[in-house]
Order: sequence, then structure tokens, then C-alpha cells
Amino acid sequence: MSVHRIREYPDPVLRGRSEKVKKFDASLMDLINDMWETMEEYDGVGLAAPQIGINLQVAVVGWRERRIVLVNPEVAACEGEDFQEEGCLSAPGFYEKVGRPQRIVVEARDEKGNPFRLDETGFLARAIMHEIDHLQGKLFFDRLSPLKRRFLKRKLDKKEER
Ligand SMILES: [Zn+2]
Repeated sequence: MSVHRIREYPDPVLRGRSEKVKKFDASLMDLINDMWETMEEYDGVGLAAPQIGINLQVAVVGWRERRIVLVNPEVAACEGEDFQEEGCLSAPGFYEKVGRPQRIVVEARDEKGNPFRLDETGFLARAIMHEIDHLQGKLFFDRLSPLKRRFLKRKLDKKEER
């Protein structure tokens, strides 16, 4: 197992569309173990494979006693809307209020390829949607109003120049 470097905006790997996992083998298990280790090292509550440079549909979410592995996740339903502050390991130091569904139903596979269904609300729903966005090349600030998005991107781009 090893801790990977987290890719930060504007690294193009974060904008790629991730491919579905087809083989549930030892290399997938290694990737997932590395993702857990990296997430914990960086003190995150979730991590998606593109954040360590791999465009595969794999994400992990760890919050309180929950440990969720999402392979090839799909949002089956969502309900309501909730605005809360959100950040991302790929944009360190930046936090903004982002609208997300209050409740979600997600279908995915676990690390062994077994299908499962999740029905979550509140913070976990938010964290899961944030990670699923990563698998589609989206970052949390893409969900802000155009004005806020421009403001935040300018701050991020300035940081990049330094
Ligand atoms: Zn993120």
C-alpha cells in the first residue's frame, strides 16, 4: 500500500471522464487500498481515483463509522436540495456553499463486483455526490453560480501562478 500525491486543479486528469471498471481483480484491490491510505493521510472524507491520476470509476467515502467503496456508481434517484460548505483535496484551502440533493439513491458495485444500493441523506449524500462528480470530470466549484465560480477560479489560478 502507498500514499499517492493528490492531483490539484487545474491538472487535466481531474477533467477526464473516468472509464468503468471491468475487472474486479487484485490490481483494483490495490488501488482501493491506496485510495483509503491516501484519503486518511490527507485527512479527507472521500477520494476519487482521478485525484490520484487514474481515470477509473472508483471512489471511497469514509465518514465516522462508515466505509463506502463505490465502483461504477450511478445515481438512481435524488430528492430535495441542501446548501452546505464544501471543499476538495484537489483545491486545498477553498470552501464554498454548494447545492446538492438532500437525499440520494445510488447503485454501485463493491470492490468484489457485488452490486449494492445506497439510500443516504445529508452529509453522506453530499460526500457521495461530490465523489461521483469527480468520476465525470466535475469539480465542486462547477456547481456554483457563474459569478462565484469566476471569483473562485481566479483565486485558484492565482495560486497556480505563484
Ligand atoms: Zn473533491
